[in-house]
Amino acid sequence: MISIAIDGPSGAGKSSLSRRLAAELGYIYVDTGAMYRTIGLYVLRSGADTEDEDAVAALLSGIRLEMRYVDGVQHMFLNGEDVSGLIRTEEVSMAASHVSAHPSVRAFLLDAQRALAKDNNVLMDGRDIGTVVLPQADLKIFLTATAQDRARRRYEELVERGQQVDQAQILREVMERDERDIHRQTAPLRQAEDAVAVDTTGNSLEESYRQLLEVVREKFQRMEERT
Ligand code: C5P
Repeated sequence: MISIAIDGPSGAGKSSLSRRLAAELGYIYVDTGAMYRTIGLYVLRSGADTEDEDAVAALLSGIRLEMRYVDGVQHMFLNGEDVSGLIRTEEVSMAASHVSAHPSVRAFLLDAQRALAKDNNVLMDGRDIGTVVLPQADLKIFLTATAQDRARRRYEELVERGQQVDQAQILREVMERDERDIHRQTAPLRQAEDAVAVDTTGNSLEESYRQLLEVVREKFQRMEERT
C-alpha cells in the first residue's frame, strides 16, 4: 500500500488540494481534521469545556465515529448522524483545536487512522501524519503559506458559503490555532525531517495544485527508477 502524508497549518489549502490529488491518483482521501472537528462538535453539544482534558476524556466512550464515502466524498458520521456540514463552522474549528491538544483524544483516533492506511492507498492530511501517524509514509509534504494569506483564503471561503465573518477576527483565530498546534505537548505541528516543503503563499489554488503535482510526479519517478 502507498501512503502520502500532507501536513501543515490551518488554511494552507490542504483539504481542497488533497481531495483533488487523491481523486487523480485513485487513493482514498482521509481528512483527519474532520475527525477532530467531529469530536469537537460532540463536546460542544454535551456542554463540557473543550479545554478540560478530564471532562473530554470521559466523553470519548460515547462517541462512535464513522467515515463513509458518498459519491467519492468523505462524510463524517457521529453516532449515526451525518455531521459533515455542521463541523465546518468557526465555533467547531476552535473546539477541534482545543480537543486535539488532549493526548486521550489523539490516542482515540490514532489506531483508526493507521488502520485506514494499512488497507488502502491513502492520501492523509493533518498536522502529525508524517511525524506520528504514518512515519513510514512513501511521500511526506509540508504545505505552508503565511498566516495572512491563509486567513484571507479562509475569509473568502466563509463569505462564499454565506457566513458573516470579520477578517481581522479570522486572522486572530488562525494565529491562535497555529500557536496551539505548534506548542502542544502531544504530536505538535512540525515538518518531518524527510518532508518536502511546499509554500503556496500568493498562489491560487490551481497554481498550488500544480506545485503539489510536480512534487508527487518527481517522487513517483524516483520510486519507479528504483524498482
Ligand atoms: O485541518 P482542520 O482545520 O480541519 O483541523 C481541525 C483542528 O484539528 C485543527 O485546529 C488542528 O488543531 C486539529 N488537527 C490535529 N491533528 C490533525 C488534524 C487536525 O491536531 N492530524
